[in-house]
Amino acid sequence: MSRIAYVNGRYRLHADAVVHVEDRGYQFADGVYEVIAVQRGRLVDEEAHLSRLDRSLAELRIPWPMSRRALRVVVAEVIRRNRILESGLVYMQVTRGVAPRSHVFPPGVASSLVVTARSLPRFDRDAARKGVAVITIPDNRWKRCDIKSVSLLPNVLGKQQAKEAGAFEAWMIDSDGAVTEGTSSNAWIVSGSAELLTRQASSAILNGITRRAVLDIAAEQGCRLVERPFTVGEAKSAAEAFLTSTTSLVKPVVRIDDTTIGDGRIGPLTERLLELYAGHMLAQEVETG
Ligand code: PMP
Repeated sequence: MSRIAYVNGRYRLHADAVVHVEDRGYQFADGVYEVIAVQRGRLVDEEAHLSRLDRSLAELRIPWPMSRRALRVVVAEVIRRNRILESGLVYMQVTRGVAPRSHVFPPGVASSLVVTARSLPRFDRDAARKGVAVITIPDNRWKRCDIKSVSLLPNVLGKQQAKEAGAFEAWMIDSDGAVTEGTSSNAWIVSGSAELLTRQASSAILNGITRRAVLDIAAEQGCRLVERPFTVGEAKSAAEAFLTSTTSLVKPVVRIDDTTIGDGRIGPLTERLLELYAGHMLAQEVETG
């Protein structure tokens, strides 16, 4: 079956889905994006993702390419045309549009919108429980990591470094020696005294939608939640560690650099949170309107 992409008003064959060479996303990384999971054919936390998109756009003063309601229709249509009946991912990107190359904002230019989608294998509990390794690297990003910008060069370099080290993710470390987040995920630990720690939302991290869902779940469970920066040393001596993202869900971290975490397998709180997050993800209501 051919994949279909939405590009600036048209549904095109994926192979023919192109943007202009002077799109500001291409030339300046002047754009933002969202990735939303599809489970059982439904979008997971769609409203939260669209609200974060709204915030990212507002921070960069990029106008919405269409109304929020219209974007939901386009996203639903891309899912339908790609026949994502079970699991998948939707990617949407908005840039400041196409204009002759000049750093200043171009006046009167419509923002560009691209929406793509792909199917993924159905959620597999056993695969999800498998622990991964992370490395630690300096966080050398800009100071507005709360904006979901397409400018991802440090993240790309960090993820490649992780891959070359045989790890799944790189946790980035700030100048105080504290973990900010992963290159495409948020970082969590469970301390020896059973506190669940993740860094508080600020301009130093992207406030993940999965992070927020897991915080809600943990609060409902009566976990001892602490939102604060934690150091690499704290992470390496933690009882449990995990990362969260739309694509990785709640993923156990069982090695940080050369240090094994816990007994090298998924920890009990991580396991509970994974189970509850999977329940949340698979139980999305059909949204109306
Ligand atoms: N931090 C960064 C830098 C990311 O790229 C992502 C993935 N978009 C996340 C955290 C996790 O965010 P979410 O749970 O919304 O996917």
